Amino acid sequence: MSPDAPLLSVNGLVKNFGGFRALDVLSFAVGRGEILGLVGPNGSGKTTCINVISGLYRPDAGAIRFEGRPIGGLPSHRLVHAGINRTFQIPRPFLTLTVRENVEIALVGKTAHRDAVEGGADADALLASLDLADFADQPAGQLNSAHQKMLDLARAMATGPRLLLVDELAAGLNPAELERVAVKLKELARSGIALLVVEHLMGFIDQITDRIIVMNAGKEIFEGRLAEAFRNAQVVEVFLGDEHAA
Ligand code: ADP
Ligand code: MG
Repeated sequence: MSPDAPLLSVNGLVKNFGGFRALDVLSFAVGRGEILGLVGPNGSGKTTCINVISGLYRPDAGAIRFEGRPIGGLPSHRLVHAGINRTFQIPRPFLTLTVRENVEIALVGKTAHRDAVEGGADADALLASLDLADFADQPAGQLNSAHQKMLDLARAMATGPRLLLVDELAAGLNPAELERVAVKLKELARSGIALLVVEHLMGFIDQITDRIIVMNAGKEIFEGRLAEAFRNAQVVEVFLGDEHAA
């Protein structure tokens, strides 16, 4: 891979569910150490995009390249091993296992690139870095939803990803938790990890990204800085429409 090639590139991605096209020829790239924001109204295809890149769904068309290699259609476990992991909009930890055990399971599946996870941090260090140390011995099922989201981030980070796909992590967090997560994500980016961050909270997106993509109906309708996005008539229309519908 040439040194200036993007870490991840997505070209002409299509995903259909029956007759419905959820991703409609989507193309973008994410660089090493970059935090790319992915925003758009409900149903615009953001989670589907993460699901396809992370191997939960196979693309119907298009190419996905990671570190120069085609990865489209590979299953999630292979992609985790290759250095891609994701968080879930609705986390599903192993509820009866403790918080620490949930992270330990993910650590077992870590890639050879251990140093991507804060110098090979063990479960406790990872939990401490996300303010979850006090809950380490509790069953994950006892965590509130904000802490379940933090645990989901810890689980994803434990596998040592070089690309982390983050799906609505900020929703439901209080201001202190939001700040903690923003600092954490920026720290990960500074360490060279690329992040694709789906989020509705524009203040949060503004704080952590330099560049965003706005999606509508499976297509990219804007790419650039957040401040510019809301000077774009199509973006404004799509977001106002979403608010009126909600
Ligand atoms: P977003 O995350 O932007 O809110 P999604 O990617 O979850 O949007 O969904 C995009 C569209 O694809 C929605 O209309 C949704 O109902 C549909 N969709 C997503 N996943 C599936 C699925 N597994 N089966 C059928 N339709 C789906
Ligand atoms: Mg979603």
